[in-house]
Amino acid sequence: MSVVCLGELLIDFVSLETGVGVGDASGFQKAPGGAPANVAVALARLGHESAFLGQVGDDPFGHYLAGVLEQEGVDIRGLRFSAEARTALAFVSLRADGERSFVFYRHPSADMLLRPGDLSLDLLDQQAIFHFGSITLIANPVRSATLGALQYAQSRDLLISYDPNLRLALWPDADAAREGMRLGLNYAQIVKVSAEELEFLTGADHPRALWQDATELLIVTRGAEGASAYHKSGLEVHIPGHAVEAVDTTGAGDAFVAGLLHGILTHGRTDYAAKLPEILYFANAVGALTTTIRGAIPALPPRERVEQLIRSAG
Ligand code: ADP
Repeated sequence: MSVVCLGELLIDFVSLETGVGVGDASGFQKAPGGAPANVAVALARLGHESAFLGQVGDDPFGHYLAGVLEQEGVDIRGLRFSAEARTALAFVSLRADGERSFVFYRHPSADMLLRPGDLSLDLLDQQAIFHFGSITLIANPVRSATLGALQYAQSRDLLISYDPNLRLALWPDADAAREGMRLGLNYAQIVKVSAEELEFLTGADHPRALWQDATELLIVTRGAEGASAYHKSGLEVHIPGHAVEAVDTTGAGDAFVAGLLHGILTHGRTDYAAKLPEILYFANAVGALTTTIRGAIPALPPRERVEQLIRSAG
């Protein structure tokens, strides 16, 4: 039984220097990106079977990304190569004011052109969890493909996990982003938001305001402060983060999701609630370790490394 992640897979070109906008950067380092793909790799490193569904371009970047996932042991039978559009690219730099400057190449990119009929939904049969994000809910046809996969996952009784990552620049405006990100909540039993996303969606630190009929567990990640869990039983758990020397937080949220899903897989879909303190502690450790190395995928920790951190913390 494994986790199937659907979403975007792209290249982040990260500026070699900080303090400049993307247009002024002298060079960029290539890094594989895409939140659901990070989750798939993070789960593989924790020792779980994972699969990725999505689309890249039939170009050198697309084949590079496929190779990265394959090398990590992620099942890529559901990854398609488009002849119609290129692999998505995002150029990123950290400006002097600490804000990130982005330029996206998706007009459209291959991930956006994934159609409902392109998905081999039988890859979801016999799997435990379906995980998705909000980027593939932005525009058709991939939005329809995502909704179709969600309906199929529901019909096969998979546990559905959702991380509505906020990328405001990719939506027409803030209201569209709020509405689109909320759409995914209708399908998911497990929802993970960051404190910023919670504020954006509810206008306050009010997790229960996100609650939908499907919701079972809502997690709010709070950076170095750790994470909070709100369960449908009324149970609330708050676990502080692990003290580490953070150098780059890219991918920490995705790593956390993998740690969380690891806990649910380990303790079982019907029994995990009682273990939430332990599960959050573990997921915080996976997130914290990911901040200690630059980049997302290079920083995702293997299971032994997480266990080592937990042992050393006593
Ligand atoms: P996102 O990456 O989605 O913005 P967060 O910044 O909340 O989400 O980080 C996700 C998780 O990663 C946190 O809940 C925490 O467990 C861990 N984490 C993130 N930043 C740090 C940090 N500076 N020190 C320790 N743990 C961290």
